[in-house]
Parts: sequence; C-alpha cells; structure tokens
Amino acid sequence: MTPEEFRAHAHELVDWMAEYLTHVGERQIVPSVAPGDVRRALSAAPPERGEAFDRIAADFEEIIVPAMTHWNHPGWFAYFPANSSPPSILAEMLTATLGAQCMSWQTSPAATELEQLVMEWLRQMLALPDGFTGVIQDTSSTATLVALLTARERATAYAAGERGLAAVSQQPLTIYASAEAHSSVPKGVKLAGFGLEQLRSIAVDSAFAMRPDLLEAAIEADIAAGRKPACVVATVGTTSSTAIDPLRAIGEICRRHGIWLHVDASYAGSAAVLPECRYLFDGVELADSFVFNPHKWMLTNFDCSAYFVCDVDALLRTFQATPEYLRTARDGDVVNFRDWGIQLGRRFRALKLWFVIRSYGVDGVRQMLRRHIALAAEFRTWVEAAADFTVAAPSPFGLVCFRYAPVSLAGDGAALDAANRALLARVNAHGSVFLTHTVLGGRYTLRMAIGQWQTAREHVEAAWTLIQNAVPAMAATT
Ligand code: PLP
Repeated sequence: MTPEEFRAHAHELVDWMAEYLTHVGERQIVPSVAPGDVRRALSAAPPERGEAFDRIAADFEEIIVPAMTHWNHPGWFAYFPANSSPPSILAEMLTATLGAQCMSWQTSPAATELEQLVMEWLRQMLALPDGFTGVIQDTSSTATLVALLTARERATAYAAGERGLAAVSQQPLTIYASAEAHSSVPKGVKLAGFGLEQLRSIAVDSAFAMRPDLLEAAIEADIAAGRKPACVVATVGTTSSTAIDPLRAIGEICRRHGIWLHVDASYAGSAAVLPECRYLFDGVELADSFVFNPHKWMLTNFDCSAYFVCDVDALLRTFQATPEYLRTARDGDVVNFRDWGIQLGRRFRALKLWFVIRSYGVDGVRQMLRRHIALAAEFRTWVEAAADFTVAAPSPFGLVCFRYAPVSLAGDGAALDAANRALLARVNAHGSVFLTHTVLGGRYTLRMAIGQWQTAREHVEAAWTLIQNAVPAMAATT
C-alpha cells in the first residue's frame, strides 16, 4: 500500500467509523448468525497474492460487521459496558500508527512517562492513597494474577525471615475471596500455582458482600493448621450484583495478620471519581493493590486496566528479569514497565487514557457516571413500582438486578427461573437492547447494566417498555 493509498483508505475508514458511531443504535445488537456462518463466508485458505483494499473493506462491511455484537450500541445493558469513546478511538489509531513496543523507557520514552503521568492522574481522580503507584495492565484478570504472584513473593519472603528458608516450601499459602468474587480469582489462583484447594470462598451477607467475621475465622483456622494466609481479594462492585465487600473491616484483618489485600474494583472503580461515591471505597488505604478498568466505565476502548500497588519493591522482585540484550545505559534512572507485570512487550495504552481524560476532563467523566447512576436509580424505581417485578439486590452504581415475580408463581422457584429465562430471551430477541443474567441467592436474575457512553434516558425507557411488553406476550405463548 503506497502512502497515498493509505491516506485515501484511512479517510474512507474514518468516514465509516463516524457513520458507525452515529447510527450504531439502529443496528441489531446481537447478530442473527449461527456458529460457522462467518467461517463459511470466508476463504478457507490464505490468498496467494495480495488483494485490493476495496475488496477487503467490502468483506469487512458485508461479512464481518453484520456478524458482530455491537458493544457500542446505546441499548447495551449486558455484562458490564465497554466504552469506546471517540477520543479513545482516535488515540488507538495513533497507537497503531506509531507501532511502538513499550517494554522499556528506551523503547518508548514518551509512552513510559505518559503512563506514569496518566496513572498519577487516575490516582488523583479516584482519590486513592498517595502511596499508590500505577501501571497499566491489559485486563483485570492479569492484574489480579499479578497481585496474587506479588502477594506470594511477599508471603514467602516474610516466612523465610520468620521460619528459615528450608521451612518455607513446606508451608502452604492460602488465598481468600468472597463467594461472589469474579472467576478471574480462582483462575489466577490456579495459574499462580497455589492450587484451588488453597482458595477459601468466604460466604456473603444478604447484600452479597463478604462477611469479615467469617474471613477472620477462616484465616485463624488456617494459621492454627500451620498454613500461611497470603492474600485476600476483596471486591468493590461484584460482577453479579455490584456488591461491595467492606474494605475497612477486611483491611484491618489483613493488617493484623500481615496479609496482602488486593481490591478488585474492575467495573465500579470509576465511581470513585465521584466524591459522593467515595464512602463506598472506605478503607481503600488499607489495600496493597487495587485494580479498575477504564475500559469498562471510563470512556476508554478495550483494553486498559489500571493497576495500583503500594509495595513497588515487592512487585519488582516478582517480575524483574533483565537479560543482557535488554540492558540499557538508562536503567538506573528510569522506569522499565516490562518489570511491572507478566508480559515483556507492551502496547502504548497510556495515549488513549490521556486523550480521554484531556477531552472530557474530570468533570466530563463525572457527568457521564452521574448520568448512568441516576438512570439506574430511576430504572430501579420503575421495577419497584411494577406489581410483577422485584429488585434482587442493592444497586449503588449503574447495575440493577431484578426479576419477574408474578404472584401466580410465588413460591415456585423453578417456574420463576424459567419465566425469567424466557422473558430475557424475548426481550433480547427484539434486537434493540441486550441484557444478560446471573444467579443470585440461587435464583435466575436479570441484570440491567447502564453504562454505555451513548445511552440516554430514552434507551432505558425503551428497554423497560420492552421488558413489560414481553410479559403478556409470554403469557400468550405459554
Ligand atoms: N473482576 C470483576 C469484578 C469483573 O466484573 C470483571 C469483568 O467483568 C473482571 C474482574 C474481569 O475483567 P477483565 O475482562 O478486565 O479481565
């Protein structure tokens, strides 16, 4: 592709992108495709000769896009949001153009220093403690694995000091998280090599938050049995219901026993930008590490996970590896972010955060968060006022968990589950909204996650109308 062809195609694609973002709300969110449809529509073998870009672009539009699920649709209420805002998309284009691999300061001085800067901006925006230093990871799952590995490093170092090196390998390390913790916690426990039998699943209270009394009892039982508690993962904003584990009580237990506290605020962390939400993070200064995803609820396209840690030395002891071929004359004076996580090669993710924060300002981010939280609160009042519906959990952020619960099905859990499953299928079949489900307290539950950057009141209202209209339609077909 010549520079002139590149320029022409880039202009065409930017026009396409602008059209897409303007009209994505008119598309069917989840495509009507069956497994294998896309593969069948494409050539099974790679082309021997290069093809004209127009043909590639045409296939993109005719085969790929109609088979995509449209996360940037304003009717997106599924899982948690993924916000690809325009400034973030523009930054991503530049990142690809620069093509930098940002493993060390020398391989990308500006990327390294911009990452330090935007992570400090985020720390200030979320009012996280001064002692936190940030690094961008690809996802929360990676960040939680990083925390578990660092916690192991520290627990092993402590144990070696207390009991002598020989004893350390004999002492099993234990990990604690609530029964509502994200699947990335058991996955990280497995990947880090602790063994799933070393993970304690702590029961939750009626609001689906970890019970600190049971956490402490589990820790004491493990210590009495000769095990060494290494890490507690607390969640602010659980995946199923956005429950909030009590950080202060958990943090005090961790401090008493010298245990690493990792806070998983993947989705809800953005809300700490709002002064009125900071009480939900009370006790965060007791954490050793904290992660949240700007790619969920801070206008930044996937992927971008902000990981903060207090004990940078422990992090470096865990991840630093400096072979001769990576040494540079500047190593003593600079940060090399390859030593702050698992991967060597790193993308220039700081650029999109910088574009986003500068474009919207802290105030613009706050306005979006407040809009979503207010919409969720309003949606909740509609559910509460509807005779056949009930809310299923507290909703401090942008997620409302609810159920269809007509009196006629009262007491019949299996029938209620089936009715809610059918209702969800009906609502989603319309194509203009997309919701997903979870199970809370053993019951099938619908999740309305409001957080897409283009979502306005009209989209939430339309979703509620669809949900209500699906009820008689369901009755008619059963
Ligand atoms: N933790 C929580 C609480 C989540 O809700 C999620 C995803 O929704 C994750 C972790 C995993 O996030 P990621 O996809 O960035 O690994």
